[in-house]
Amino acid sequence: MSFNEVKNFINGEFKTGSSTKIHSIISPLDGKELSTFCESTMEDLNEIIATAQKAQKAWQKVTLKERVQVFYKYKQLLEKNSEELTEIIHRENGKIHSEAKAEIDKAIELTEFACSLPQFMNGENMEVSKGVFCSSTKVPLGIVASIVPFNFPTMVPHWTIVNAIALGNAFILKPSEAVPISSQYTAKLLKEAGLPDGLFNIINGTQTTVENICDHPGIQAVTFVGSTKVAKIVYQRASNNLKQVLALGGAKNHILLLPDAHPEMASSNIVASMSGCAGQRCMAAATLIAVGNCDAILDRLIADAQKIQCGTTLGSVISKAAKERIEAYITEAEQQGAKIILDGRNTTVPGKENGFYVGTTLIDYATADMKIAREEVFGPVLAIVRVNTIDEALEIENANPYGNSCSVFTQSGGLASYVTEHASAGMCGINIGVPVPREPFGFGGWNQSRFGSGDITGKSAIGFFTKEKKTTTKWNPEAGTNWMS
Ligand code: NAD
Repeated sequence: MSFNEVKNFINGEFKTGSSTKIHSIISPLDGKELSTFCESTMEDLNEIIATAQKAQKAWQKVTLKERVQVFYKYKQLLEKNSEELTEIIHRENGKIHSEAKAEIDKAIELTEFACSLPQFMNGENMEVSKGVFCSSTKVPLGIVASIVPFNFPTMVPHWTIVNAIALGNAFILKPSEAVPISSQYTAKLLKEAGLPDGLFNIINGTQTTVENICDHPGIQAVTFVGSTKVAKIVYQRASNNLKQVLALGGAKNHILLLPDAHPEMASSNIVASMSGCAGQRCMAAATLIAVGNCDAILDRLIADAQKIQCGTTLGSVISKAAKERIEAYITEAEQQGAKIILDGRNTTVPGKENGFYVGTTLIDYATADMKIAREEVFGPVLAIVRVNTIDEALEIENANPYGNSCSVFTQSGGLASYVTEHASAGMCGINIGVPVPREPFGFGGWNQSRFGSGDITGKSAIGFFTKEKKTTTKWNPEAGTNWMS
């Protein structure tokens, strides 16, 4: 399968970016070039904004019930094209087919939620004093932009595309430069579904393009998903330019394993969480805190992790640089005295020797102060820290600067509630390895995993992508009498 040049999408047409800088897109499966794109300039963004403004003004006049009709058709197109899209995500990101397919399934679910928005959008109306009524309605913001990471080329863009447009906005997507191909199909399918030109746009690029988005006065709101380092930059720069911003950052997710956990359930869920998508999930299990004697469960966990095979049940990591970074973390932990019980360094897949693979890695006897237990590794690596009490485990979890997710594995309801009550994370799980809330609940962490307020999906998205208009009404109480006479 070959992919033509990746282009911007402006006013319903694909157009090459006007910078002379050419970016190469490498498949992490085999290190081969998949495609290229020309970076974008401020002129490209200006062109998008000019056409998007016109399109949005017309779109705002269409009722919400009519607007979502496009997304019913779009959902069918996602289903129809699922196989092709799965292959594209597999090739550009390196995740295995079932994980790529799961992204399409999630994009479909997000589209279903957008279709249901009319059910959530009843405004408020109340008699606030005798004869005086206050009502509120939700109005679109105008033009909104989303800057997205590499790890979910289709799902993360769909966190915002469908809700933002259904709620009456025009939308600009800045895909990750590592995986911009699947978004070309999003553009194609939205057009085929009947979305008017100018409402969905793509601008390809890297840092400069993101800075242009943060600075452009024609954009009212920005969402960002990516590393904490860049989330802070985008949050500050776009806020400084008086935009509404929600920026989701990195993570270091903790799993608290208690000795009474169901062994099979705990083991399979934890292994799936740390190795799924090659550990490149912002919800991946990263530090396992074993409370007390959990050896029987850990033995099973090691056996389950050993069964995972690179190239079949484990995909590649995104780049050579990522592979080197992950391996350096493992080596440093080893040098500091942690015990590598399953070593994924120097892994190759026969026939794909130039691909970027790291095998499943388990590191026991890590201590809470080691980098492997504190920092985001973003690879299929699980650090195991052993403690004696739940409070010690919570102290480690609470001290971590991130706060995306925290899960506990136990069969005791009381202990599970104690952990979720005291964990410092926006998304908690009980016997769940990847505790992603499903719609209408919203996705969003705490602390350095999120800058701005509210969540990016679910009902919270309504608040982010609209502004509220309050109208206070009073009529002449005598009007009816006068008319009668
Ligand atoms: P990244 O921060 O490197 O890149 C994200 C986006 O920012 C890309 O579109 C990129 O082009 C742009 N960018 C990169 N450097 C920039 C700079 N200096 N200035 C302006 N823009 C810049 O992230 P990534 O490597 O693509 O993705 C992995 C990260 O994303 C991990 O930290 C992961 O935890 C995080 N993530 C978080 C969530 C969440 O919901 N919290 C979800 C998915 C991924």
